[in-house]
Amino acid sequence: MANKIYTMAIVGYGGMGSYHTKLIEPVDNIQVTGVFDINKDRMKAAAEKGYKAYESLDELLADSTVDIVLIATPNDVHRDLAISSLRAGKHVICEKPVTITSGELQDIMAVQQETNRVFTVHQNRRWDEDFLTIKHLIDTKQIGETFHLESRVQGANGIPGDWRQVKAPGGGMLLDWGVHLLDQLLLITDSKIDSVWTELSFILGTEVDDGFTSFIKFKDGLTALIEVGTTNYVKLPRWYVKGTEGSAILRDWDLSGEIVRNNPDVAKVEPKPIKAGQGLTKTMAPPSEESTLKLPLEKPPVPEQSFYENFIAAIEGTSPQLVKNEEALRVLRLIEAIFESAEKRAVLNDLNL
Ligand code: NAD
Repeated sequence: MANKIYTMAIVGYGGMGSYHTKLIEPVDNIQVTGVFDINKDRMKAAAEKGYKAYESLDELLADSTVDIVLIATPNDVHRDLAISSLRAGKHVICEKPVTITSGELQDIMAVQQETNRVFTVHQNRRWDEDFLTIKHLIDTKQIGETFHLESRVQGANGIPGDWRQVKAPGGGMLLDWGVHLLDQLLLITDSKIDSVWTELSFILGTEVDDGFTSFIKFKDGLTALIEVGTTNYVKLPRWYVKGTEGSAILRDWDLSGEIVRNNPDVAKVEPKPIKAGQGLTKTMAPPSEESTLKLPLEKPPVPEQSFYENFIAAIEGTSPQLVKNEEALRVLRLIEAIFESAEKRAVLNDLNL
């Protein structure tokens, strides 16, 4: 089993489907051999790259040489494609958001149990270094106990593409970038969610949200501000974290940022008042340089397995699946609570999610 090369076929050979072929290139034991897409131009593009272009989904699923199906279509067809693939005996990787509703994912999970194949979601941003850096900072308590964090991504290019601007195929930024940021957030604490408040943004006039601001409170007291924007010509930092002993900032994908924390070796020095605008303030004066330390962000440990290495290990039963379906289900339930809070214009309390 150890040297088996797994054959993969891709359903949906658009932006992400074709990007997966590049991601898989360095993976020794997966080989992409075929593609199915409902768009003839995309099938032609796949054939030109040397992939078998299947005439139909049925033809692909009937091909007994295919071990793995990778689903990279718009979100509304993920459920049916996943179920058909599992029933055909294939292991399945599905792009995020795994489905639009938690009910659809539960349907897939029921078939996964029946068929005993591996089904997982491509939550690739669990491996992003900015996230791993912040998770490491929090886990190792470098600024004491974290009590608040802000995680945001902001651009000024509006909602990209076509189907992402439409509700039926699962468009909107909450289901797009929101899924990544919420998935990351739920890995940061073991605590259950207590309450959610959200404002969706419709600045661009689309039928789906072009961004959102969500305030999430956990039972252990941690609060999180999660924000996605597509109308931000000036953007705020990617991460801002406050702990009982200091604060940390990570500005961008380049991982620039720092920690400022109290110096345990120096007694707190009273701040001197500063002139601020037309007034004087001691409250808002910066902490004294003698009693604080400015430190670089520590590099996090390198993950032991990549997404694909883990997927193969899960098939072979040598490692547990890292992106668990129950975790994806919790993210979808949180998204449903976020939509409900936005619609009701209310804080949803006592969620116990
Ligand atoms: P896209 O529009 O570029 O590509 C989608 C492709 O699917 C198109 O070629 C389309 O013709 C095809 N398609 C549609 N319905 C189909 C069907 N029933 N059967 C077969 N093919 C079908 O979209 P995209 O940006 O590649 O997004 C695809 C998926 O990947 C989405 O779920 C999206 O959220 C996800 N995605 C994930 C990441 C990530 O970082 N994990 C990044 C981008 C997109």
